[in-house]
Amino acid sequence: MLEARTAVKSLHAYRPPLAGRQGLRLDFNESTVGCSPRVLARLRSMDAEALARYPEREPVEGEVARFLELDAAQVLLTNGVDEAIHLLCSTYLDPGDEAIIVVPTFAMYAIFAQAEGACLIQILSGANFAFPLAELLSRISERTRLIAVANPNNPTGTSVAGKVLLEMARAAPQAAVLVDEAYFEFHGETILNHTRRLANLFVARTFSKAYGLAGLRVGIVAGDAEQMAMVRRVASPYNVNAAALAVLPEALRDQEYVEHYVAEVRRGRIDLERELQTLGLRYWPSCANFVLVRVGPAHTEFIQALRARGILVRDRNSDPGCEGCVRLTVGSEEHTRALIDALRDVVGKLMPGISKGHRGVRE
Ligand code: PMP
Repeated sequence: MLEARTAVKSLHAYRPPLAGRQGLRLDFNESTVGCSPRVLARLRSMDAEALARYPEREPVEGEVARFLELDAAQVLLTNGVDEAIHLLCSTYLDPGDEAIIVVPTFAMYAIFAQAEGACLIQILSGANFAFPLAELLSRISERTRLIAVANPNNPTGTSVAGKVLLEMARAAPQAAVLVDEAYFEFHGETILNHTRRLANLFVARTFSKAYGLAGLRVGIVAGDAEQMAMVRRVASPYNVNAAALAVLPEALRDQEYVEHYVAEVRRGRIDLERELQTLGLRYWPSCANFVLVRVGPAHTEFIQALRARGILVRDRNSDPGCEGCVRLTVGSEEHTRALIDALRDVVGKLMPGISKGHRGVRE
């Protein structure tokens, strides 16, 4: 009888709750307004011939590299950051190798690393999700072949200083170090330019968040040119589809649209955090387009009550260190306003007294 590899059989199935997402989608950190109209116009202008051809990634890769001020050989376009993670795991991990992650974090690092048969080392972040640098450094061994860190992190929204990440990368030259900057635009800090100097450093970006293109599935991984030649060997030449490649240059050209949305999200993040503080809910100041909030034992009712008001948010109760926590995506001004109004209503009904008892609690 055919059997899957042992490493695959022991994986947990990861099924994000995508079914029935009716309403205001504040559950997956997507853009709530979608892509630029110029991008949509470009997409609509595609014809049958453009779809009949196999997609040619290289010219667009060159444009993306220029945009990032990197050499074309350093940049690979991927089917979202998800594929970038998968490719790095395939390129560097042999069964029994060690992969280090700091939890709580994005689920796909563990899944792709374990699928290769690697041994996953999960380091719990410190108080208030502080980056546990000393412990991480102490866990690096000759078997360490991958270290993945999301910066800003998901689901916490916390960030770590670039110099800390660079120290970590220098301490493990035998490991591929992935710094996942999926939420870069909302944070504004990057170590992308260090991929020129540090041969084991890889930086990932995505068009799924600030650019509003999660459905097109397009991301970037950048690294040292020689290392990237290895990563390219395991990628399909057609991993990014023709529609994504057709619109990407236009998406990059319309920076004004992205900047406008990012500014709106940043203002909304301040308003939301202020409101959470007023409501007496504990939250972690965020560098991304979402805020993690501790609701406590009523987290399921809280999510249901928001859903009943047409707002979808994400339960993070099962993530390490996130008991009773819910993640709220910050969207446009209008959408954040709707979230704040609903929160006032739900907290008032579900947790009367909380705002008086714990006013101003913040971590
Ligand atoms: N990295 C992080 C930290 C994320 O939160 C997400 C999306 N939830 C991704 C990567 C996936 O991005 P993409 O849509 O580009 O695959």
